Amino acid sequence: MSVKKPEILYTKLFINNEFVEAASGKTFAVINPTTEEVISNVSEAGPEDVDQAVAAARSAFGNTAPWRTMDASQRGALMHKLCDLLERDMDYLVALDTLDNGKPLCETRGDVTYTIGTLRYYAGWCDKIQGNTIPCDGEFMCMTRKEPVGVVGQIIPWNYPLMMLAWKWGPALAAGCTIVLKPAELTPLSALYAAALAKEAGFPPGVVNVVPGYGTIAGQAVSHHKDIDKVAFTGSTAVGRHVMAAAAGSNLKRITMELGGKSPIVVCEDYDNLDEAAEVCHTAMFGNHGQNCCAGSRTFVQESIYSEFVKRAVKLAKERVVGDPFEEKTQQGPLVSKVQMERVLGYIKKGKSEGAKLECGGARQGSQGYFVQPTVFSNVTDDMTIAKEEIFGPVQVILKFKTLEEVIERSNNTTYGLASGILTTNINKALTYSQAIRAGACWVNCYDVALPQTPFGGYKQSGQGRELGEDGLAEYLETKTVVIKVPSKMS
Ligand code: NAD
Repeated sequence: MSVKKPEILYTKLFINNEFVEAASGKTFAVINPTTEEVISNVSEAGPEDVDQAVAAARSAFGNTAPWRTMDASQRGALMHKLCDLLERDMDYLVALDTLDNGKPLCETRGDVTYTIGTLRYYAGWCDKIQGNTIPCDGEFMCMTRKEPVGVVGQIIPWNYPLMMLAWKWGPALAAGCTIVLKPAELTPLSALYAAALAKEAGFPPGVVNVVPGYGTIAGQAVSHHKDIDKVAFTGSTAVGRHVMAAAAGSNLKRITMELGGKSPIVVCEDYDNLDEAAEVCHTAMFGNHGQNCCAGSRTFVQESIYSEFVKRAVKLAKERVVGDPFEEKTQQGPLVSKVQMERVLGYIKKGKSEGAKLECGGARQGSQGYFVQPTVFSNVTDDMTIAKEEIFGPVQVILKFKTLEEVIERSNNTTYGLASGILTTNINKALTYSQAIRAGACWVNCYDVALPQTPFGGYKQSGQGRELGEDGLAEYLETKTVVIKVPSKMS
């Protein structure tokens, strides 16, 4: 198989372990962002299809269904089997997400490895989900059961197509839920392939369903559905608001949401290696082309090292290899879509017009494909749009600060609170900052170290609830209290 042109095997909806056409017969085009050509046409789910997927998931969640009566350890074994198949087809999946999303091979290899790591981590949890026995007042015995929340709707974005699927499937399957996943309309291909692997692994029909389609149609059908018990959403804060309102307005389904960010990364003057600091901040911003919810998109640098830092940041941005994502040397491919490219170019224009200093980049690269040059702005102030809004592209915004107190206040001066970082060799500064920052993560002397074992999620308007780790699992469980009358009480 040519790595460059992975054969597209699955383009239909996956419901009840079968690939089926949409009830409407409609399809939508999936575009290759590198060439702007159509990769394939994929069936477009509408409300009727979502209904069918939910019915299949509900039936698979029935009290006597195989998924509910199976040993928990067997659920874990199935998840490990799925991971074995993902490993078997790793090269294919890497090529598929590179084709569909435009991210270079080095990024997609990381994504698929992480996907498998996340699913294996949660596979291990299956038979370790335990309730308590609780000493309660009166002639009673009390135990709690941790039960699966039920049928879950999962809506994911395009920036890490397979990885986001793993963040959603891992805890849901470990908990024993059944799933209706709506992948992003820009990148549905790897989710459909993963669905085929789930069937091959032996998951019973209806446990996993995948319904590609548009957010305002299939996505809304999921968030408004009255027979979905929980919706897990990753995407923009604006859409998160709709999803939350839909949950409230339909059946008060549980929600977890991972939303946008404008995360600060702070470089203190005591940090002993400025080259390394520049590199950490460069990767924090330009990784995944800046299309990363926890991108270090506000780089705060202390006054005394500011100009030296900017020089290094510019050098790294200029050296960044932009091009065909299938070339091994490429570090940055195209952005995911024309809309995204234009949005990012619009922010660059705003940065210039509001008075930030454009140090490098600042334009589209080439005329075919959605490439944007790695861009660095210095002399940015907090009031500028590029310092406030999520750009979601390869644009580094470098701000100057004087004191730790000041940078804490400025870091927190945002409606977001997803992530943060600080580079310092002073433990007290690290501890002060990590306690004071109002964000779901604080990385000290590193950045974006989100691991399967560690909880991830947002404060403020960056989210609700947590993914990954034990906390992520808890979001897919209900606690049932069972109280039993005993003839007489004993300690
Ligand atoms: P988006 O909100 O436009 O779309 C995300 C998903 O929601 C897609 O599947 C889309 O089809 C669906 N959707 C759109 N409108 C909908 C509606 N009205 N009802 C239900 N579903 C709907 O976001 P995007 O542009 O795909 O992704 C970029 C955003 O995602 C960024 O803001 C980024 O910060 C965020 N993100 C957050 C995390 C995180 O973990 N916090 C991770 C990745 C991306």
